[in-house]
This record gives sequence, C-alpha cells and structure tokens, in this order.
Amino acid sequence: MYQSFIGLEIHIHLDAETKAFCGCKAHFGDEENTNVCPVCMGFPGVLPTLNEKAIQMSYTVARALNCKLSPNTKFERKNYFYPDMPKNYQISQFAEPVGRDGYIDIEIGDSIKRVRIHDVHFEEDAGKMIHAGDMSLLDYNRAGYPLLEIVTEPDLVIGEDAEAFLKSFRRLVRYLGVCDGNMEEGSMRCDANVSINLKGAGLGEKVEIKNLNSSRFVRKALNYEIERQSGMMDEGKAVVQETRLWNENRDQSEPMRKKEDANDYRYFPEPDLPPFRPSEEFMQDVENSLCEMPLVRKQRLMNSYGLSSDQAEYIHEEKYMADFFEQAVFSGAEAVQVYSWLSSDVKKLLNRTGLSLEDCPLSAERLAKLISMIGDGQISGKIAKKVLDYIFDEDKDPETICNEKKLVQISDPTAIGKIVEDVLAAHAQVVEDIKAGDARQMGFLVGQVMKASGGNAAPPVVQSVLKEKVLG
Ligand code: ADP
Ligand code: ZN
Ligand code: MG
Repeated sequence: MYQSFIGLEIHIHLDAETKAFCGCKAHFGDEENTNVCPVCMGFPGVLPTLNEKAIQMSYTVARALNCKLSPNTKFERKNYFYPDMPKNYQISQFAEPVGRDGYIDIEIGDSIKRVRIHDVHFEEDAGKMIHAGDMSLLDYNRAGYPLLEIVTEPDLVIGEDAEAFLKSFRRLVRYLGVCDGNMEEGSMRCDANVSINLKGAGLGEKVEIKNLNSSRFVRKALNYEIERQSGMMDEGKAVVQETRLWNENRDQSEPMRKKEDANDYRYFPEPDLPPFRPSEEFMQDVENSLCEMPLVRKQRLMNSYGLSSDQAEYIHEEKYMADFFEQAVFSGAEAVQVYSWLSSDVKKLLNRTGLSLEDCPLSAERLAKLISMIGDGQISGKIAKKVLDYIFDEDKDPETICNEKKLVQISDPTAIGKIVEDVLAAHAQVVEDIKAGDARQMGFLVGQVMKASGGNAAPPVVQSVLKEKVLG
C-alpha cells in the first residue's frame, strides 16, 4: 500500500595527511589537542589555504561517481555554534560543489541498481566532544579534518538497500585509496533520510536519522522508521519532518528536533578562499588516480576466470586481494585453486598472525609456485599447508623451504614399498585380521605408513602398494 524512499548523506574523511585548510596532521588516535594551530582553532586574522591533495581526492571520488565536475568550485561559510567548532562556522560548499548529478551502480541481492548522486562537496570536520559524567571534554584534533560529503537522491527503498549501498561505497573509496571507510572510528559516517507515501503519490515528508555508526544500524534504523511511519499512516496521522537519533541500545529512533527549529545556516561565500579552478594537469592526475570500479572488477573476475558470484565477491572485496589473485593466476596457478587458498588457509594464517595480505610474506608468485608444486606431485596438499606456515614464519620461497626441510613427496612405489614392509612386519596381527575379512583395518595401516614417512608419502601410492602387499 505504501512505498518508501531513502536518501543517504555520507561523510568520508579524506586520507590526505594534513587538514583541509592548514598544515596540521590529520591522523586518528593521536594525543588530544596536539594537532592544532591558529588556523584550525579559528584565531582572529588567520587565513585558510586549500589542501590540494584533499581537493584532488574529492574530484577523484566525484569522477568515480560519474558526476559533472565543477570547473570552478567555490567555498561557503556554514554558520552555527557548537563547542566543538571553534570558528563558529564550517567552511563547506553550497552553490558550486566539486561534483553533481552523478550515479553509481550497486549490487543489491542478485540485481544491479543505479543510484543517482545529487552532489559531492568538500568541507571541514568539527572537533570531538567527549561527555564524561557531568563534564564535557573537547578534542580539536579532528577540527578542520578534510571531509567529503556525498548526497544521494532518494533512490533506495528499504534498509537492506542502504546497507548494500554503504558496503559498495566503502569498497569504492578503499579501492580509490581516499578513505579507509572505518565507520567505528568515524572516518565514514552516514545520515539516512526516509519517507513513505501512498503508492504513486511521490515522496513523503522526510525524517532524517543521525547517529548511525555501522551499516547494520543504518539498515535497522531505516526499517524501524519505515515501520513507524507506516503505523502512523495507518492511523491517519501525518508524519512530520524531523531529525531523529538512532538509539542502538533500545533499537529505536527517538526525536531530536522538529522542522520548526530547523537550522538556518546563513551560508555566505568564504571571503578568504578563492574558487578552485582545476588545471588540465590536475584533471589528468584525477583521471590517472581512477581504477576499475569494484562491481566491474567483480563481473570481470567471474567472466574471465570462471569464479562463481560468491567467489568473486570474496576476491574483489579488497583491491589488493583482487590484484594478488590475478597476479597468481598470471603466474600459472589455476583460478579456483588460488581462490581456495586465499579464502581458507591463507585467510586463517592472516587472522592468526594479524597481518594483512599486503604486509605478509606470501606473494602471488609464491602462492602460484606452491600450487604448481602440488599439481606436479612434488608435494602433497598436506605438505603444502606446512610449507605455507613456513613461508609466513621464515619469509622464504616454497622451493627453498622444501629443500631445507626435506619436504618432498615420496611417490616412488619402491621407496614406499620399503616403508610398507616395515609397517606390515610391526603389525602382523592387523594384517591377519584384514586377510580374514576385516577391511576397516586398512585405514589404520595407511595412517601408520604416512606417519612412518613423516607425512611425505603420496597417499594414493600408499594405498595401492598396501592393497597389493596385503591382499596380493
Ligand atoms: P535538506 O535540504 O533537508 O538537507 P535535501 O533535499 O538536501 O534535504 O536532501 C537531503 C537528503 O535527503 C538526500 O539524500 C535526499 O535524497 C534525501 N531526501 C530528500 N527528500 C526526501 C524524501 N521526501 N524522502 C526521502 N529522502 C529524501
Ligand atoms: Zn591547524
Ligand atoms: Mg541538504
């Protein structure tokens, strides 16, 4: 009976080393109030200068989102008072943002949906207020941090869509290397807008939900809000435009402010910053910093390497992993094998060691070599797992490890025959039992031979030699 509309406002911290308009370090987790200067503290008479790297990252994101890029982007002051904002205004963009009218294709379930982007604009972050008992503490390290806001059109329908959008968007900014997308640390934040209406009646009165610090909360809050608004419509009550806060402890949204006291920011042009007009060279750098979009990459992983959708989903999550995967295949390993190693044994080792694929001693070439050594029968799958452990411990090539540790698969029937003879002699009774018809004991003998060979014997050869020697 009803239809719902969702639009998101996403903020990302740009990974630009310094703040938006001064030279202070922009880094999460440093000691409080150490990354501050007269500019970001809003002292009288200071002048902001634009962080070129941050503005370039902004154009890169806008370009990746297929926006029309501004040839003349401008800055405005957005005026409001808040203790964590020492200047009493925020430098933002209003009339001429970096980009507008874009779109991004995302995967929701099994289908691809195009979500329109209203605009992408550059601004500075406020500091952080920490409430502790009956006092509030202020940390201005974050004040002036370069921030990019991405505003979507209300093209999403339910909470799950918004969650999928955030996951895709997070992946994109990580691919582009402009933001780590960490919602817990606040380097990616999202406000969600939602309205419902009778089918065919267009947009309804929107409610904005704030305080959402994970994509799961975004989904839950939106679905809660759709339910709440539907309930009101059922009762013939009007939904009023307001801002609500998500209370993650109670799993509900709660009123924060109504439209009557909606903010009037009194935007006016920032007098201390000229408009930014990107040069041709700047735009060329923007083009060069683009990469294959995650969804395109996923589709290519499926089409070119025969991965299933789930396999490609796993491999394409991180750009580095996708690059690693392709490099390993290029070095001669079979695609699904590479996937299997990456998604199981390698993953386990990364978890155990706390390393990332990027910093760990395993390279794509080493993994490809390891896989090809199994394929050639040089080592068994079981030995290969040991070799992988050694690669992580000793940072050496798989061949070197196999030579040094004498990890070679024994598949010569004569050599295995000798081990088998010894085992049979030591377990004469078992041999008698098998001959008398107790076939289950065969597994015990295989185990003994494997053990005696130090795990190096090729299991299929062990089995056939045993069968021959015991049963004739
Ligand atoms: P405001 O002027 O209050 O900031 P905007 O028009 O700029 O509102 O939109 C902010 C966000 O809210 C955008 O993501 C937009 O898609 C979304 N939005 C706007 N109107 C609606 C609506 N009626 N229902 C759902 N979302 C909406
Ligand atoms: Zn500063
Ligand atoms: Mg707005």
